[in-house]
Amino acid sequence: MHHFDYTDGVLHAEGVNLATLADAVGTPFYCYSTATLERHYKVFADAFGELRPLVCYSVKANSNQAVIATLAALGAGMDVVSEGELRRALAAGVPADKIIFAGIGKQRSEMAYALDVGIHSFNVESEPELLALNEVAVEHGRVARIALRVNPDVDPKTHEKIATGKAENKFGVAYGEALRLYALAAEMQGLDAAGVHMHIGSQLTDLEPYRRAFTLLRKLVVQLRAAGHDISHVDLGGGLGVPYRGTNDIPPHPSEYAAVVHETLGDLEVRLAFEPGRMIAGNAGILVTEVIYSKPGDGKTFLIVDAAMNDLIRPTLYEAHHEIWPIDEAARAQELVPTDVVGPVCETGDYIARARPMPPLEPGARIAVMTAGAYGAVQSGTYNSRLLVPEILVNGAEFAVVRPRTTYEDLIGLDRLAPWLSKS
Ligand SMILES: *Cc1c(COP(=O)(O)O)cnc(C)c1O
Repeated sequence: MHHFDYTDGVLHAEGVNLATLADAVGTPFYCYSTATLERHYKVFADAFGELRPLVCYSVKANSNQAVIATLAALGAGMDVVSEGELRRALAAGVPADKIIFAGIGKQRSEMAYALDVGIHSFNVESEPELLALNEVAVEHGRVARIALRVNPDVDPKTHEKIATGKAENKFGVAYGEALRLYALAAEMQGLDAAGVHMHIGSQLTDLEPYRRAFTLLRKLVVQLRAAGHDISHVDLGGGLGVPYRGTNDIPPHPSEYAAVVHETLGDLEVRLAFEPGRMIAGNAGILVTEVIYSKPGDGKTFLIVDAAMNDLIRPTLYEAHHEIWPIDEAARAQELVPTDVVGPVCETGDYIARARPMPPLEPGARIAVMTAGAYGAVQSGTYNSRLLVPEILVNGAEFAVVRPRTTYEDLIGLDRLAPWLSKS
């Protein structure tokens, strides 16, 4: 469910006319819907009933501070993977004790900063990280609450680049190593190993991998308790998929996911935590772009638009499918022709859609690339010396520019000529 729909023949974001918005801010731009963000967060958080978990939105999906603040106002915690994300969350007003710090390559300086501000916990992914965090905590006279990320070796049946819970992936410690590492952590004076963590992948559309992973996790918690470890918190990660193909591939509803959680872990008497990212932000954002040229190709049309792979890399990185809706509803009535929607970047991999049946759009026509709210703007860059696209947040009939388009001065001004190249 999202709040992008046609009113009077024009696509709107909630109450905002996207043609008018495009005139006001220029294309391309990302546009996020507050009502959709709020709805997704509430549907997810409410699905667990009395379990009342800590829901930590995964900041890497969309780290704009306006998005973070929208969710924080509903009580969301945050899952961060770098000091930069931690600083963004704090700047957006998230209480430090609702922030979980994950990631396989935390630097000691990042650990020290997180300990200083007093985050909820660290998700630790290896034995050397365990040792490093203990040292940093002791140095700073603190105790770091941790959950060890355990890799259950379960196939999440998703794209290989976003599968994280298989033995071959770089994430977490092997399931069979966990008991030894908890025993090791229990000896360390800077650590409180109170939790267990798992995150098996992203864009999951099947609940069975979750059921297998959570069943293994339950077994581990029972074993750890039997070995004398006081496990009070279990973090199940994120990963629930979103419907990139509209009504043709509806992923499990949060209530079905919650039913699996209840069945497998409901009686453990632990505080549960979740880290949903895509499920909250994916469908809450679109990328609006304008046709520059329409060029006939070999049995197809190339629609050359002003957004490119540097603005939205998902199609070329993950072979991702994004629905495309014309801003002008009348275009939908036209006969569809096979079309490659491509950007201006000099790479064959620069496309938004390939072999897609599309209406024959003219230069100046605008289209919305749907379900672009997660892993979209956060992965944007300036390849081909293109400007970072703006981000707009809509709330009812209002909108705000929550990241302005960068300027050419910003872009070019970062370079310095080496002294021997400067003209005297
Ligand atoms: C990326 C990530 C998430 C969020 O995944 P989604 O698929 O966006 O829900 C949660 N936890 C960890 C550890 C991650 O790396």
